[in-house]
Amino acid sequence: MTRYSIKEIYLTKQGEGHHTGRPAIFIRFSGCNLWSGLEKDRKKAICNWCDTDFVGTNGINGGHYDIEKIINIILKLWEPTIKEEPYIVCTGGEPLLQLDQDFVDKVHLAGFKIGIETNGTKIPPRNIDWICVSPKKNSKIILIKGDELKFVYPQSGFDPLQFENLNFNFFFIQPMDNNNYDENKMMSENFVKNNPFWKLSLQTHKILGFP
Ligand code: SF4
Repeated sequence: MTRYSIKEIYLTKQGEGHHTGRPAIFIRFSGCNLWSGLEKDRKKAICNWCDTDFVGTNGINGGHYDIEKIINIILKLWEPTIKEEPYIVCTGGEPLLQLDQDFVDKVHLAGFKIGIETNGTKIPPRNIDWICVSPKKNSKIILIKGDELKFVYPQSGFDPLQFENLNFNFFFIQPMDNNNYDENKMMSENFVKNNPFWKLSLQTHKILGFP
C-alpha cells in the first residue's frame, strides 16, 4: 500500500483565497519540485522566497502513512460541532508529487471534500473538489484549468495577466511574504485596483494567528 510522506496535519481555517475562513484540515505533503526546502539551496531555487517548511515528517501529526492512517487522523481532528461540510486541503510542498487516485477516492468515501493548493506543474487525479493553482516564475505550468488561480505578487518579469484567459473561476493576487511585504502589499493593492477582474488575497491565518 502506498505510503505518503506527510509533514503535518492540523485543523484550522483556510486563510487564503476564495475559501478564506472555511474550516479545513490541512494536510501538508513533504517535498516540492521547485525547492528542496533546505536553506543551502534557497538561492538557486525557483521559489527562493518560499515561506513554508515542508521538509521531513516532523510536524504535528506528521509521518509516513498509508491512507487508512491518514483517514483515522482526519476523522479524529474534524470537530462534530463544525457546521460546514468536512473539508481537507492538500498542500505542501507540492502535493501532486504524491497525491493519487486512491487517496482522493478513499478520503471522499470517508465523507470529506478535497481541495488542493498546487504550483500547477503536475496533473492531478480525478474528482478533486477544489483546485487552486499558484504559478511560479521559471516553472512549466501544465495545469491550466481549475477553480482558482492565486498569483503571489510580484514575481519580477512574470506577469499575472498572462493567465487571465485560462479556465479558472476566480483570480487572486496575494502579496509575497518576504522582507518587502509592505511594498508587495501596496503593489498588490494597486494591481487589483487597476485590474478589477482580480481580487486581493491576504494570508489571514497569519493576521489572525491561526496555524
Ligand atoms: S511551489 Fe510552493 S511550496 Fe514549493 S517551493 Fe514554491 S512556494 Fe514553496
